[in-house]
Amino acid sequence: MKTCTKCGALEIIIEKKHSGQRLCHECFIQGTQEKVLKDIRKYKLVDKGDKVLVALSGGKDSVMVLDILNSLYERNIIDLAAVTIDEGIKGYRHDGVRIAADHANRLGIEHRVVTFEEHFDTTLDDIMALPSQRGACTYCGVFRRWILNRAARDMGASKIATGHNLDDETQAILMNYLEGNIENLTRIGAKSHPHSDKFTVKIKPLREIPEREVALYVVARDLEVHFAGCPYSHDSFRSEIGEFIKHLSKDHPTIMYSTLRGFDKMKPALKKEFSKNFSREASLGECTKCGEPAAHDLCRACVFCKELKEL
Ligand code: SF4
Ligand code: ZN
Repeated sequence: MKTCTKCGALEIIIEKKHSGQRLCHECFIQGTQEKVLKDIRKYKLVDKGDKVLVALSGGKDSVMVLDILNSLYERNIIDLAAVTIDEGIKGYRHDGVRIAADHANRLGIEHRVVTFEEHFDTTLDDIMALPSQRGACTYCGVFRRWILNRAARDMGASKIATGHNLDDETQAILMNYLEGNIENLTRIGAKSHPHSDKFTVKIKPLREIPEREVALYVVARDLEVHFAGCPYSHDSFRSEIGEFIKHLSKDHPTIMYSTLRGFDKMKPALKKEFSKNFSREASLGECTKCGEPAAHDLCRACVFCKELKEL
């Protein structure tokens, strides 16, 4: 009979192929929380007194980040707040916003909902109705980064925590590698190192937790989450890479860990060799329109807004 490899309990909820561990409900929750908190210490993701702003979509990843960071908030190690971005995707975003607000209320933390409309005078649905060449995720990523950064400053946050998990991070590594985007590759990591005071440090506490364990964690902890997928996600190259990695992982259960470990070992050399070539890294000025950090006259969000008006 298969029993929990930690406590011997008879009912197991997960068998981890990559490590051979089998865990019961309690040991899985405890082990996962310990692993994330250990990574937070190991990579020095937070300092005592930080105000951490969680980018809370209401999806499983951000809800799990909030749940674990809340243990540091309860022990007065950090202050905690959350922001939810409403991109304007009909039939999708509404439930996530409601769930995010419920979690923030339950924990008694400051929470803001910020919309694309209030800052960019448009919604993602309206953008996608235009004859643009760019994909939804390109606009969404740039606008969301802009909002997150602005919200972090407005709310006095010293760190922004996002819910990127092991699958997301492995996808990012492969995507940028396959696209030959070395500049983006050098920026992948557990913690960002911004080149402007106006950018807030971003942290990824779930970077070493596989997506399926994140899903199991929120179910095991009985946390309400928004499980629906974004209607635009199938458009992206990222989802193709995601399918490819999932397929490989079936017969090679350690493939995501080895991709991440290998990349982390290579990254210092990549940075050393290439970062001097990236002018953006060296000289960030300010966008002449919105004042956010920008490598040229306009930041990317303002370039996109200008393009959209001309379509
Ligand atoms: Fe935005 Fe793309 Fe994510 Fe949808 S899948 S929320 S469009 S980044
Ligand atoms: Zn701008």
